[in-house]
Amino acid sequence: MSDANSPALLDVQLAIERYKRFAVATHVRPDGDAIGSLLGLTYMLRKLGKEADPYCQDPVPSAHRFLPGSRSIRHSIEQPSFYDAAILVDCGSLLRVGNALADSIGKIPFLINIDHHMNDTPFGDIFWVTPSVSSTCEMLYHLCGQLQLALDPDIAAQLYTGLLADTGSFRFSNTNRQVLALASALVEAGAQPAYIAEQLYESASPESIQLLARVLSTIAFSSDNRVATAELTQKMFAETHTLPEDSEGFINHLRSVKSVELAVLFREDDDNELVHVSMRSKGKIDVSAFARRHGGGGHRNAAAFRVSGKLDAIRSEYTEKALDYLAGAS
Ligand code: 5GP
Ligand code: MN
Repeated sequence: MSDANSPALLDVQLAIERYKRFAVATHVRPDGDAIGSLLGLTYMLRKLGKEADPYCQDPVPSAHRFLPGSRSIRHSIEQPSFYDAAILVDCGSLLRVGNALADSIGKIPFLINIDHHMNDTPFGDIFWVTPSVSSTCEMLYHLCGQLQLALDPDIAAQLYTGLLADTGSFRFSNTNRQVLALASALVEAGAQPAYIAEQLYESASPESIQLLARVLSTIAFSSDNRVATAELTQKMFAETHTLPEDSEGFINHLRSVKSVELAVLFREDDDNELVHVSMRSKGKIDVSAFARRHGGGGHRNAAAFRVSGKLDAIRSEYTEKALDYLAGAS
């Protein structure tokens, strides 16, 4: 069934018509689809005359601060009782919004979940999840149509940003005819492709490139160069005066190697006891299944999870597991 005909889409429409005050929220360490869908939906709701506030526990990455409304994103919900409903966008689970925000959202009586991650455990009063689409922003475009809401340049820029980010600038296997038609419709409504691409991809700070140089110096290849791993430590962040958001997209450099089918980036968390493991793959290798097995999730070619322990030990243990997984998958 195409996304535009999903029964859950009608449920979302009815809930939006029924309620007045909405808290919209997205996941920690937000990417382009998270911020684009968070702001796009907030603006859509306001256009319908609703009260809507955007929430994200973490700061907005600097590359996304050009988006209209990005400076109004709040980081915690002061008064959950104010809202009739919460809408989560781009979140594979409630906890993806972060513990504190998840706590507050738990106090809001009605929960709507709009997402495109693979998910075995439905949650929320309305669960509209379509893993076959490129991005949460693509789903919101269909929602706009369902609500008979005209696009405007702000909403077009917000949704285009999510589309661009989650298709890897129209390069990944989720880029298809619908996605390009949707991009065209967004440009017609006022999104500016060159301007948005420059904001997202040509706005790095000198410090983040220093950080990238350090990360790339840790690359190791195994299994006939089919697997590439690298690491990112707290020391590197400290030395370069950078934050985790400055490392967005680094893992793509590992996957850009022709022979590499599986890329893994190990990132030390700030308390040194937790390691964030990011995975990217090419083709049919499903990293989301591997990530779910270890308490995380994501998409077939992009997924992540976190494990407790020291970076060195985790890197060797999970590189071994990834090699076994690749051997089993091929
Ligand atoms: P990243 O490597 O950029 O941290 O994450 C890759 C992808 O996996 C993103 O689409 C992200 O939303 C998703 N992801 C990361 N961590 C989790 C997790 O714990 N659970 C789920 N369901 N998805 C995750
Ligand atoms: Mn997404």
